[in-house]
Amino acid sequence: MRWRPLLVGALGLFVVGHGASHALAEPRVSEVQSAFSRTATRGRIRPRTTAEPVVIVAIDGVRPREVFEGEDPARVQGHAPRSGRELLPNLYALADAGRLIGSDEAVVASGPAYVSLPGYTEMFTGSPSRCASNECGRTRAPTLVDAAVLAGLRASVVTSWERICLAAAQDPELLDASCGRHEGHLDSEGDTLIESLLERDAALSPSPGAADYRPDWATAELAIRVLEAKRPDVLFVGLGDTDELAHAGNYAAYVTALGRADAFLGALRATLAAEGERGRNTTVMVVTDHGRSYGFRDHGAAFPESRFGFLLVSGPRVPRGEGPGAEVTLGDVGRGAGRLLGVGGEDSPFTTWLSGR
Ligand SMILES: [Zn+2]
Repeated sequence: MRWRPLLVGALGLFVVGHGASHALAEPRVSEVQSAFSRTATRGRIRPRTTAEPVVIVAIDGVRPREVFEGEDPARVQGHAPRSGRELLPNLYALADAGRLIGSDEAVVASGPAYVSLPGYTEMFTGSPSRCASNECGRTRAPTLVDAAVLAGLRASVVTSWERICLAAAQDPELLDASCGRHEGHLDSEGDTLIESLLERDAALSPSPGAADYRPDWATAELAIRVLEAKRPDVLFVGLGDTDELAHAGNYAAYVTALGRADAFLGALRATLAAEGERGRNTTVMVVTDHGRSYGFRDHGAAFPESRFGFLLVSGPRVPRGEGPGAEVTLGDVGRGAGRLLGVGGEDSPFTTWLSGR
């Protein structure tokens, strides 16, 4: 993600500009593009619950290379490069009961910016976003969270990067979230552990991020507790240390952060296993908001290769055998989750595949 207003702002203007790329984007993307329509109003919400919850985990700025091929031999010192399965045992355990997409079929950010806020906005709205930088404000299009909450379901968002709250919901009043150390309003529902974790997090250092960033280890603890105590119908977890450390050019630290994100997936699997039937009926999606440049440190419009990522889908509905057979976009994350939750989300080859054709 790496929200550096001056540098990224200048880069955004230089790379994306207000000329050619906007002229290209306009016919394809309306001002309020979304796969979700706003069919209810706040006053008419009838609470219900789903028997098939969804958990989405986004790990920021992870190249498909490490996921599918393992460590880059040219960047590893002092040990044999580990395979993807060795680096990410929990991701692969989930894949054994689902599908890891991104090698047979590409998983892409629609861009054209290939930076974080457009990527998260695409996930939540289910559609390419007009947002072309990390400085966009709150989404003006309805999202998966808006649709779920208006349908009476319970949605929670817990992220390391504070600006994900801007992408998560069109209506901040509908958003139950803790983004970074201070953004969002997460209802503890009287859970004293959630209250003490929020209090602790507020006083943490943002390292390895900056500004209001919350380090992944703290985000992971809070996310697991939110799942245990609040049992949301849809939970979105955003981890970001991988991107921060990659920007620092520290490959070993990037890989270590990726391993910690996998350990979070292990804690998530254990928590779902302890839930019994509800856990067995939960679909887990793991995704990245963008990949990286061939040179590893960067991503963005100047590096078209950074549009490539991966998507893991694991759960009772995931078809065995063949994959979706077409390119998958970040928008398919929101669309697929919306389909599983029965709250809308337009058709795409991915949702058709997920629905069992
Ligand atoms: Zn970044």
